[in-house]
Amino acid sequence: MYDFIIIGGGIVGVSTAWQLQQRHQDKKVLLLEKESVYSKHQTGHNSGVIHAGVYYAPGSMKARFCKAGVSATMAFCDRKNIPYEQCGKLLVATTELEVERMKALFERCKENGLDVEMLDAEQLKQREPNIVGLGGFFVKDTAIVNYQQVTTHMAEEFVELGGTALLNHEVTGLMESEQEVTVVAQHQGAEKTFQGRFLITCSGLMADRTTKMLGIPTDFQIIPFRGEYYQLPAKYNNIVNHLIYPIPDPDLPFLGVHLTRMIDGSVTVGPNAVQGWKREGYGRVNISIKDIADMMRFSGFWRVLKNNWRTGLVETKNSLWKPGYLKMVQKYCPQLTVADLQPYPAGIRAQAVMKDGSLVHDFLFANSPRSLHVCNAPSPAATSAIPIGEYICDKVEEISR
Ligand SMILES: Cc1cc2nc3c(=O)[nH]c(=O)nc-3n(C[C@H](O)[C@H](O)[C@H](O)COP(=O)(O)OP(=O)(O)OC[C@H]3O[C@@H](n4cnc5c(N)ncnc54)[C@H](O)[C@@H]3O)c2cc1C
Repeated sequence: MYDFIIIGGGIVGVSTAWQLQQRHQDKKVLLLEKESVYSKHQTGHNSGVIHAGVYYAPGSMKARFCKAGVSATMAFCDRKNIPYEQCGKLLVATTELEVERMKALFERCKENGLDVEMLDAEQLKQREPNIVGLGGFFVKDTAIVNYQQVTTHMAEEFVELGGTALLNHEVTGLMESEQEVTVVAQHQGAEKTFQGRFLITCSGLMADRTTKMLGIPTDFQIIPFRGEYYQLPAKYNNIVNHLIYPIPDPDLPFLGVHLTRMIDGSVTVGPNAVQGWKREGYGRVNISIKDIADMMRFSGFWRVLKNNWRTGLVETKNSLWKPGYLKMVQKYCPQLTVADLQPYPAGIRAQAVMKDGSLVHDFLFANSPRSLHVCNAPSPAATSAIPIGEYICDKVEEISR
């Protein structure tokens, strides 16, 4: 009998397991992950940015977690000797509409207590000779890191503290009684059963499915949105000094194609946001009949399609046609050409969508007497993983009291 069972070896699940074991050293904590390595999905396919918290509504969980996450992540990296670099980020406005949006975003940053500096076109040029724009602003606290490394170090510490982590264990069934939760998992073709006093699911792209296994009534479904990247040739490793972001459309939940300096020294371009047809599809053909059928049966999917078909068509065109994709970057970095966009693995966002078609922008949780489910952990959940884990530990104590 375990005291806590956690499903999901992405950064949120691992951070939760690690912190639960720290808080309750006398208790038995079990982490189950279906893949053979940690962070194989969203955590291992992201931009590697420690976000400062530019975009988030003041007072939202996203804003709070992100702010706390920056210092917590850097402190963890310092302690474990994980490389990170506080390179700062520049948001660049290239049209008059973006200048207006930029001013609103700048005010939001100040409300969120960030260290920001407004730049005119000339100052922008001085900071970033290869970037053009009508103006921009600089966010000092943004940094870069490899989140797979962060997750692996947390998992190692979890095990050192006495926790049990089992990879290659796919949870396929859950049952809850008054006394316990039973977890059924598949391991190398055999079925294994685990009993626990409390269950926490942090299953990212599968969040709705694991929640449904316990029959908890929820109104959301995960819709996958692919984020496709390219990598620039090594000769461009110093093309920018900071991370370069466009000014996002406030109605869309994604940040726009950016130039990201990675911690390994390379520079990526992306990600875009296109409809995914397979939740964990990273190969050449990314179609899953099961995933598509689930979407087709969900009214929220059709409403998202109806509300966003114009943006969806443009993103799909740019995904299929490199010159279209290139244009999104050329507006602030005109010297890049189609030949500079080299292949790089895509990531897939787990976007929770409600039945009414609204996209869930903040974190979303569901619970039963013996379980807590992370239903939506959108970007910047990698940055925020330590405070999210802390919040989950508090919640678990509150629910199981
Ligand atoms: C393209 C992209 C770019 C991003 N950029 C950034 C960024 O720069 N900075 C930032 O802070 N955030 C970023 N994010 C967001 C961030 O990566 C995610 O919010 C975060 O990684 C979510 O972590 P997670 O643990 O919830 O999910 P995941 O990392 O997806 O982990 C979920 C885990 O659960 C496991 N699982 C699922 N079902 C089962 C089951 N039945 N049994 C056992 N295991 C199961 C999966 O195998 C997986 O390992 C980005 C995301 C994407 C997709």
